[in-house]
Amino acid sequence: MIPLNVRQILRRHNLWPKKQLGQNFLEDDGALEKVVAAAEIAPDDTVLEIGPGLGSLTRHLAQAARRVVAVEIDAALLPPLKETLRPHANVDVILADILQLDLARVERLAPGYLVVANIPYYITSAIVRHLVEAPVAPARMVLTVQREVAERMVAQPDDMNLLAVSVQFYTVARVVARLPAGAFYPRPEVDSAVVRLDIRPTPAVSVPVIDDFFRVVKAGFSQKRKQLRNALAGGLQLEPPQADALLAAAQLAPQRRAETLTLAEWGALAGAWHQRNGAPA
Ligand code: SAM
Repeated sequence: MIPLNVRQILRRHNLWPKKQLGQNFLEDDGALEKVVAAAEIAPDDTVLEIGPGLGSLTRHLAQAARRVVAVEIDAALLPPLKETLRPHANVDVILADILQLDLARVERLAPGYLVVANIPYYITSAIVRHLVEAPVAPARMVLTVQREVAERMVAQPDDMNLLAVSVQFYTVARVVARLPAGAFYPRPEVDSAVVRLDIRPTPAVSVPVIDDFFRVVKAGFSQKRKQLRNALAGGLQLEPPQADALLAAAQLAPQRRAETLTLAEWGALAGAWHQRNGAPA
């Protein structure tokens, strides 16, 4: 495929990239190929793309998949997008905010669909949450994100963070490529990376109530680098001895810091919190 000339298309349509919508268009063909290869798309797959922009990634997806559903928020991009996609009859473009879109109502998205996207960085966490918690979850997601965010997603105990726990609870996450800022137009201020998130058939740890699990995790990370007993006392409105009792029930030392816990240990803590509140396990 002849590479798209992003600048020329924008000029011809009298458009300027909108920073507030995270519009950094991928124009490097090598980078586009890395994203598509990481997704391992089979000819029968359906792909959901978030933010097709001018269609640089969309047309590669259309070649590899049976069907592509592309959700774009910016109506001004529809004319150039339709032009790019004219040779590809297997793409449905939906004009919508992905975060407001009820994915269960998008008929073409049967279970097992893939998400492949160069997403707007300002809503990375919200998009991941919206997709992994959707009633019809995808099988895997290959996303271009800010490099630092990609590293936070795949962090391991001693260096854990709220995003890592949230992502790894639902998915097996790995960084599959790094992309320099020069692969995009306009160049973003940060480097990027491609992450692949394979959705787990069931969450990484079994917990009585998922909302309780995240309440405990958020409380644990609410005070950076503090001992868990203090963070939990503050975040869950407990007296320090009650926080100590909770940690003891989960067989965790009170001096531990949130960054050091494994997912299984967060699961044990959430289980202890659930029991403490008198609910059946
Ligand atoms: N996929 C294109 C590419 O790689 O060149 C464009 C990627 S650009 C980083 C992000 C795209 O997401 C833009 O087209 C932007 O308008 C769109 N976008 C931003 N916020 C969105 C939202 N909430 N829902 C859907 N699309 C959104």
